[in-house]
Amino acid sequence: ASTWAKVPQGPPDAILGITEAFKADSFKEKINLGVGAYRDDQGKPYVLPSVRVAEDKVVKSGLDKEYAGITGVPSFTKAAAELAYGADSLAIKEDRLAITQTISGTGALRIGGAFLERFYPQAKKIYIPTPSWANHNAVFKDSGLEVEKYRYYNKDTIGLDFDGLVADLRAAPAKSIILLHACAHNPTGVDPTEAQWRQISEVMKEKEHFAFFDMAYQGFASGNADQDAFAPRHFVKEGHNIALCQSFAKNMGLYGERVGAFSLVCESTEEKRRVDSQVKILVRPLYSNPPIHGARIASTILNDPALNKQWLGEVKGMASRIIEMRALLKQNLEGLGSKHDWSHITGQIGMFAYTGLKPEQMEILAKEHSVYATRDGRISVAGITSGNVKRLAQAIYKVTG
Ligand code: PLP
Repeated sequence: ASTWAKVPQGPPDAILGITEAFKADSFKEKINLGVGAYRDDQGKPYVLPSVRVAEDKVVKSGLDKEYAGITGVPSFTKAAAELAYGADSLAIKEDRLAITQTISGTGALRIGGAFLERFYPQAKKIYIPTPSWANHNAVFKDSGLEVEKYRYYNKDTIGLDFDGLVADLRAAPAKSIILLHACAHNPTGVDPTEAQWRQISEVMKEKEHFAFFDMAYQGFASGNADQDAFAPRHFVKEGHNIALCQSFAKNMGLYGERVGAFSLVCESTEEKRRVDSQVKILVRPLYSNPPIHGARIASTILNDPALNKQWLGEVKGMASRIIEMRALLKQNLEGLGSKHDWSHITGQIGMFAYTGLKPEQMEILAKEHSVYATRDGRISVAGITSGNVKRLAQAIYKVTG
C-alpha cells in the first residue's frame, strides 16, 4: 500500500468552500459575503493608495534582501507597538515591552499560544468567546493549549451576553488565560462598551486572569485607531501585563503580505530581555525569521508622518463605507416593510454582521438568491456595495418573511 494510504480526507475550509460555490454560480448579480476581505464600492479588492506610495518608496530605496533578525524589522515592530499601545505608553517608555514581528495575526496567535504553553505557569488552557473566529480553536490546540469557551453572544438579543461573560470569567479558576477580541469581534460584530471593558478588566484583576488580546482590526472598527485600541490600553493602564496579537491584513489591506506582531507587556526591562530571548528560541525552529517586504511597507507608512496621516484617512474611509452599508441594508429592509428589528445591523461594528439568520435561511439565500455567506448567518459587510444592497435586502426580506 502507498505510504499515505491511511491519511483520511479532511473537511474543506468552510469559508473557502463558499468562495468555490460562488465561483461556480453563473448568475451575473451573485453576491459573495463570505470572504473577510475589504472590497470597494465596485466590489473590487482595494489596495490602499498609501500602501502603493510606501511600496514605491521601499522599491526605490534599493535595500538589499538580507535576512531580518529573528524578531523582524525593528523599525516596524517599534512603530507597531506605538500604534497599539499609544506613543505615550509607559510599557514602551520603560522598555518593558517584548515584541516580535509575526506572520500576520494568525502567526501572532500561534507564537503567543506556543509561548504560553511553554511558560505560563498556572494554566495550559485558554478561554475563547462563544462564538469566536473559527481559527482560534485550531491555532491554540495546535499550540498545545486546551481550549475552553466562555459565554459572549446572546442570540435572543443578537447582542452581548455580558452577564454570562462576567459569570464565566468569575467561575474560571484563578489565573486563567482569557482570549479577548480587542475590537470588531469576529464573527458577531458585537463589542463590549467602554464601561463594560472596565468591568471586565476589574473582574479579571480580581481573579488574576491573564488577558490575551487579539487585535486584528485596529482602526477598521470605528475608523479611529486610538478608539479601537481602548481595551488593551485600558488593561495595561490598570496593571494587566497583557499579551497582544496585531494584524495589518485588514487595516492596511496587506492580507497576503502577512504582516503582524506579537507582544507581551513585562514587569521590567530585565524580564523583557528574558522573554525576548525565549520568543527567539520559539521562532527560530518554526520559520527562522519573518518576511521583510510587507513589514517594510508598514514601517514606511507608520514612520512617515504625512503617509501615516494619509493611511489613517484611508482606514477611516474603509470603516465609514462599511458603516454606511450597514445603514443602507437596514434602511432597505425597513423600506421593503420587514417587520423584524434590524437595529443590530447598525449596532454591530467591523467587517462582519451577524444577521441572526438560521443555517436553513442561509442555504436558501445561496440556492435561490445567489447570496453566499457562512451558515452561521455572518455576512461580510465589506462585500455589500451601493449597487447590490437593494437586491441583497430583497433576498433577505424574502427569506425572513
Ligand atoms: N483574528 C481574527 C479575529 C481575525 O478575524 C483574523 C482574520 O480574519 C485574524 C486574527 C488573522 O488574520 P491574518 O492572519 O490574516 O492577519
